[in-house]
Amino acid sequence: MDYEIVIGLEVHLQLNTKSKVFCGCSTDFGSAPNTQVCPVCLGFPGSLPVLNRRALELGAKVSIALNCQIAEKIRFDRKNYFYPDLPKGYQISQFDQPLAQHGKLSIIVGNSRGRSLQKIVDKTEKKIRIRRVHLEEDTGKLFHQKDSSLIDFNRCGIPLLEIVSEPDMNSPEEAYLYLTALKSILEYLDVSDCNMEEASLRCDANISLRKKADKKLGTKTEIKNMNSFKGVKAALEYETKRQMGLLEDGKRIIQETRLYNTEKGVTEPMRSKEEAHDYRYFPEPDLAPFNFEKSFLKSIEKNMPELPEHKKNRFIKDYQLSGYDAGIIVSDKNTADYFEKCASLYSNPKTIANWLIGDVFAYMKANNVSIKDLNLKESYLSGMLRMIDSGVITGKVAKTLLIEIIQTGKDPGKLIKEKGLEQISDVKLLEAATDQVIAENPKSAEDFKNGKDNAIMFLVGKVMQKTKGRADPNKVNEILRNKLKGDA
Ligand SMILES: [Zn+2]
Repeated sequence: MDYEIVIGLEVHLQLNTKSKVFCGCSTDFGSAPNTQVCPVCLGFPGSLPVLNRRALELGAKVSIALNCQIAEKIRFDRKNYFYPDLPKGYQISQFDQPLAQHGKLSIIVGNSRGRSLQKIVDKTEKKIRIRRVHLEEDTGKLFHQKDSSLIDFNRCGIPLLEIVSEPDMNSPEEAYLYLTALKSILEYLDVSDCNMEEASLRCDANISLRKKADKKLGTKTEIKNMNSFKGVKAALEYETKRQMGLLEDGKRIIQETRLYNTEKGVTEPMRSKEEAHDYRYFPEPDLAPFNFEKSFLKSIEKNMPELPEHKKNRFIKDYQLSGYDAGIIVSDKNTADYFEKCASLYSNPKTIANWLIGDVFAYMKANNVSIKDLNLKESYLSGMLRMIDSGVITGKVAKTLLIEIIQTGKDPGKLIKEKGLEQISDVKLLEAATDQVIAENPKSAEDFKNGKDNAIMFLVGKVMQKTKGRADPNKVNEILRNKLKGDA
């Protein structure tokens, strides 16, 4: 039976403020347990919360970037529940008047059709609606040991921004794309570390299935405990299969919260899902509601950085990059900055993009480093490209040279001299090498003379090998043709 997958995501983001959201305690990560606490974040009776202006500012920044409508009136509510990591017995959050609502975020989805060899991928833009963005405080952290559990309250009161999407994603892949696009925006805004392993970004997923003809949504489960974007995708893939299996057997899906077990790659039941009324939400009496000052919002709007989508369009227009190349380069802010600096030093941006997306990215991926940690000054990459253009080195040598630059951090000009990598421009040397190759490969030479034009590529390759890539392949091709035709 044909099912449609329906996915909505809730992202919790720790905002990178210096102090907590309702008190002055530090938010430094990794300090000794229970050293960054005070009566406010521990919930001592009589202590009063004061809202951190910076947290509100960062929340508004994210809301604007996600095209949301920001509320005129800000109000906080108490979400009541008992858990050992919540000393107050309630969390200060926002209920029916969130900071912002009705936003949207675009993702680029690819629909492939046709058979593998001539697969055509249509890239289309899909808008994922953002239901709400609200500000709340984080809880403490529990450490479970063999026969005891320990609590660290340092995390209590760290500002969290919850970003809730509408259930607009229809595959685990789309959920992955949404998270990637969201993270890219958050990094451009510089509002959070966005580190899923350190839990500064957390994601819960709601997923249900319905028959394609059905209007009504199916019963959903909520999946927690995923610690990477790939983990979110894997958990949703597993959950899709699990729910589909149940539905096909005529069984019922139970509305519940399930934990993703990374090691086993499965989701396991945790608890039945609470409803909003279980939390007894009521307005926080210690924080009076207030109106957003127009000037406060205006100053945030004025200081918004350029966001990935805008930058992408600018790169297409200013540097004549393809949409695909521009999209890849702007998805990481540091890469985009790197590209622009190179483009100011070297006149062919398309060539820079090719090298970045090709050899530089391949090196980064193989060595698991980011462009920031890479030993490759913008002036070195652009300098190397100029040396290819002026014929100092061949494109083939440049590929090895690039790795040398990255590994030694040395100037390309110096390395070329040290390693003797200059292009061979002496025609006599090239002729000697081709003569040798023809003598060593009589069969290929004969094939070419008998009309097998392809055979020449093999011989060119042999000359390139002999000269360690330092010969200009076009010139070698020309010399070989002249020599072999002369023989004929
Ligand atoms: Zn505190």
